Amino acid sequence: MRVTMRAVHADITTLAVDAIVNAANTSLLGGGGVDGAIHRAAGPELLVECRTLGGCATGDAKITRGYRLPARYVIHAVGPVWRGGGHDEPALLSSCYRRALELATAHDLRSVAFPSISTGVYGYPIEQAAPIAVSTARGVLASGASTSEVIFCCFSASDLAVYERLLG
Ligand code: ADP
Repeated sequence: MRVTMRAVHADITTLAVDAIVNAANTSLLGGGGVDGAIHRAAGPELLVECRTLGGCATGDAKITRGYRLPARYVIHAVGPVWRGGGHDEPALLSSCYRRALELATAHDLRSVAFPSISTGVYGYPIEQAAPIAVSTARGVLASGASTSEVIFCCFSASDLAVYERLLG
């Protein structure tokens, strides 16, 4: 199967893909940044479903429907808060990308769009986070995921430049 990975400069709530990934927090009850934007665009039913999930550990992910979003599903992934890099942040960040793609495969989803998890309020340096995102996705896709299209959805031109350099 042909796999494509690309970066785009967009608001992730506008993407008509099988699933968009949310950079959620452990409560799964909404927050600022991309989380707030996704809840606003999906409508209040998203929070109702999230309340049934019992939260989510850092490094893990959970899936809901997309409600009023053009995306069919939302995969809520919880990245680590950056605490200088010596607190398992790389492994936790990699884990939430891997878990999100495993959930996508469990639901037979073909196209998945990720925001730049942890690099907003959580403070993970984009130059260090983006290579983890790309290499983790490459690894999962190479080991037989259902997903054939991964989109890295960048909210700024400077983030897009980082991803484009990595993706060649
Ligand atoms: P975290 O708490 O994981 O750092 P944030 O939401 O603060 O999450 O930021 C993660 C990334 O999502 C940042 O690069 C931020 O600029 C970006 N972002 C914010 N809103 C959107 C949006 N509507 N679409 C795509 N990316 C977004």
